[in-house]
Amino acid sequence: MEQAGANRLARLQRLQAALGDGQLDFLLVSHLPNVCYLSGFTGSAAALLVGERGATLFTDGRYIAQAREEASNARVVIGTKAPAMAAAEWLAAHRKTAARPVLGVEAEWLSAAMRDRLASRLRGKVRVRSASPLVERARMIKDAYEIQRIREAVKLGASLFRVACAKIRPAVREVEVAAAMEYAARRKGAEGMSFSTIIAAGERSAVVHGRASAARIPRRGFVVCDFGVILAGYCSDRTRTVHVGKPSREARHFYRAVLEAQEAAIAAVRPGVSAAEVDAAARAVLRKWKLAKYFTHSTGHGLGLEIHEAPRLAAGQLQKLESGMVVTVEPGAYIPGKCGVRIEDVVVVTASGCEVLSPGEKELMVI
Ligand code: ZN
Ligand code: ZN
Repeated sequence: MEQAGANRLARLQRLQAALGDGQLDFLLVSHLPNVCYLSGFTGSAAALLVGERGATLFTDGRYIAQAREEASNARVVIGTKAPAMAAAEWLAAHRKTAARPVLGVEAEWLSAAMRDRLASRLRGKVRVRSASPLVERARMIKDAYEIQRIREAVKLGASLFRVACAKIRPAVREVEVAAAMEYAARRKGAEGMSFSTIIAAGERSAVVHGRASAARIPRRGFVVCDFGVILAGYCSDRTRTVHVGKPSREARHFYRAVLEAQEAAIAAVRPGVSAAEVDAAARAVLRKWKLAKYFTHSTGHGLGLEIHEAPRLAAGQLQKLESGMVVTVEPGAYIPGKCGVRIEDVVVVTASGCEVLSPGEKELMVI
């Protein structure tokens, strides 16, 4: 935990350096995962005001003990107002000079109503500006501590596939499979699932985000299982597709195509390659199999404190991959009303390529 504290201090110092570059005197961090990334505070209501002299965490009376314990590198102010407003009032009161400092806000995460209230409260005292996504940019590159947390989350998450396979049988409801996986996750120490578990069987496998439903698994067909846990604050994400009953030749080909696409995309991941190039690698394989039009989502996404983070592996994304980025690689193909297949792993970009976290069997499993 001491290591975590030292890392957060380093993150804060890097952000403070970036404030000057962005011509900001302060940044009001209101997106909770960003607050957690910088301060360690995990409560459900907070804002972190970062300036060159340090960071101040604003929260409410429910979190007195927790804030002092978790936010080791920030002053803690307990208030009764919305945390962002409390931060604005504190800033107005503690302004040192007659000059009007510039306060950056996280425009992506602050409601228009709150921004209006802040601007009117600070009128004539502090200038309010939209800041570029400074914290999100920093969060793209994971340090060794974060990679270790993600590695552990992915390992736990991967172990749930065995639970799914033991439960998947014709006539079992999708939700029963999800329930068994989620119970196992909790028993193994997960704080929760990183998103609603997807179990999509038979025709439903063509529904890209087919949350587990009351539908029963048919006697024959694909079952897409997409699942993840949160462990020590970090997310995992994995998809495996199994086949119930004997697969047809066509089904085997369909699976083979998606697997080849996934392996081609993983092989394309290395520093200096753009996110769009990785996406294109997956799409080129599916085009060869004449399945490109059935691949209707992006190839992957960053993950860490949140299940979806930058960068996004998709067409048009010019962001270059860098060592320390953690992304999913998850091409799929979906024929509406018929079937779908997706295969997903989490990879860490290394100095020369990438490492698949918790690699495992990917050949088509028949149940
Ligand atoms: Zn997933
Ligand atoms: Zn994913």
